Amino acid sequence: MPNQPTTPAGGSHNPRNNPRPHPKPTRRHPSQETGSFSAAPYLTGPAAVLPPDDEPAVTGCSYPSGHDAASQEAAARAAYEQYAAAVSQPHPQAANHPQYGSRYQQQGGYAGYAPAGANPRVMPAQKTEGQMTPYDDMGRYKKKGKKKGGIVSAIVAVVILAVIGVGVYLYLNPPTYNVTVNGMTRTVHDGATVGDIINEGIVSPKPGNLLAVDGEVLEEGGGTPFTGTINGSEFTDAATALHKGDTLQIEDGADATEDYEAETVESEPGHQELGDGAIHVYVPGETGQVEKRTGKVSGKTVEETVREGRDNIYLKYNADTKGEKVVALTFDDGPIGTTPELLDVLKQYGVKATFFTIGDQIFDKTDFSEVVKRAADEGHQICTHSYDHASGSGRGVDMTRMSADEQIAEVQKGQDAITQATGKEASKIFRSPGGNYHDEIIWTLQPYVTGEIGWNVDTEDWRRPGAEAIAQRLLSVKPGDVVLMHDGGGDRSQTIEALKIALPQLVEEGYKFVTIDQLIAYDDVEALAKDLQDAAAA
Ligand SMILES: [Zn+2]
Repeated sequence: MPNQPTTPAGGSHNPRNNPRPHPKPTRRHPSQETGSFSAAPYLTGPAAVLPPDDEPAVTGCSYPSGHDAASQEAAARAAYEQYAAAVSQPHPQAANHPQYGSRYQQQGGYAGYAPAGANPRVMPAQKTEGQMTPYDDMGRYKKKGKKKGGIVSAIVAVVILAVIGVGVYLYLNPPTYNVTVNGMTRTVHDGATVGDIINEGIVSPKPGNLLAVDGEVLEEGGGTPFTGTINGSEFTDAATALHKGDTLQIEDGADATEDYEAETVESEPGHQELGDGAIHVYVPGETGQVEKRTGKVSGKTVEETVREGRDNIYLKYNADTKGEKVVALTFDDGPIGTTPELLDVLKQYGVKATFFTIGDQIFDKTDFSEVVKRAADEGHQICTHSYDHASGSGRGVDMTRMSADEQIAEVQKGQDAITQATGKEASKIFRSPGGNYHDEIIWTLQPYVTGEIGWNVDTEDWRRPGAEAIAQRLLSVKPGDVVLMHDGGGDRSQTIEALKIALPQLVEEGYKFVTIDQLIAYDDVEALAKDLQDAAAA
């Protein structure tokens, strides 16, 4: 059944109210009334089926004014048949939309019909033969683009397939190459590492051990797994990748030492007395550096030498003047009243000597400071022989019996007296009273003296054996000797007489008389000490 109009006549709600008194029929186009009409016929000419304004049948039928259903159906069928007939042949004005629109404009429209410009019924005109719409033209281009896109897609697909194919092939047939391992050519797969070489048993290096700080084995195989070179360069990482043609040398691993705590300490130099002779000098040592290592695993502590120290050497030797006739005369226990007379004799024969003075005789007990100054001014070496010749606890002859402080005081006070008398710094060369200088006193006095001087020839003039006897002993010297005499400690007239006898003869023999410092300068004492040290260590 076609829908019956339900909108009341009059259409007052329509903005385009029909001005005419006759109400516009509300009947709709058949295409809207039933689904039996296809869109195609409708589009061919909707205007053709619209009833003319003054068609009485349509007007009467379309109005719901009490007609029975049969008559309504008959009217609808008639309308349909009329429509069908109309669409069966092209309407002469089918494409004439303006006419369609204008016609409705003239009619003023009615409820349910939108303005022609917006009404969905006002479709674009059907394409007539020979005409082309802009959309058709676009379609032409679209078709062309599609063709191009297709080619690109095909190429991409081929490339992807090719890549996948190569990937699968490489996966199934990985590339290989040759390397030289310990002199043998081996084929390895791409990306192989040194670890692979070892894991595959191509080489089987024995790992080193983990050692404690003292060298004891803590863990078998706990050292490095291997040692090796690639193309001559050392490496340690098993993950090192191999490359075509590499030359690999893999050897057993090395031992590794456990981690440890390290503490660096200075090692004080030790003491050594080396050699033998009349001249005793100090060759200072050097502090060493030792690292104390305490193993974090073993807890053991060992000492590792970082810098070798060198012992202090107390070197005893005899001067080697290489045959040059040189002697060093030394005079102890002055100054006293006759010392100037002795100085006159030395001056007469051009002798430079060394005086080992008693401090309290330069000042305090007696004052011969002027004599000491003269001796210094005349080129003699002025050294101390202690302040008071080891009086008191040293029993007047042996400083080794004294306390360290007393020993030091004996030296310092003796040197101070010289400095005070001469106005110059005292020599650091020392002669201990009685020649008693051994064991601890050597190292106690090291900071204050540079040497302790003994003798090669003892004239025993202190016994006063007679000038001739003293002179004979003096004449027995040989090159490099140190001669012991005295200018104090008693009557020294025999000593002075002996000098007058011997000195002219010695000068005649070609002897020169030098100070201790000058005599020491004949030798390289450090080299001498090192030679003796090496000999002692061997
Ligand atoms: Zn003395």
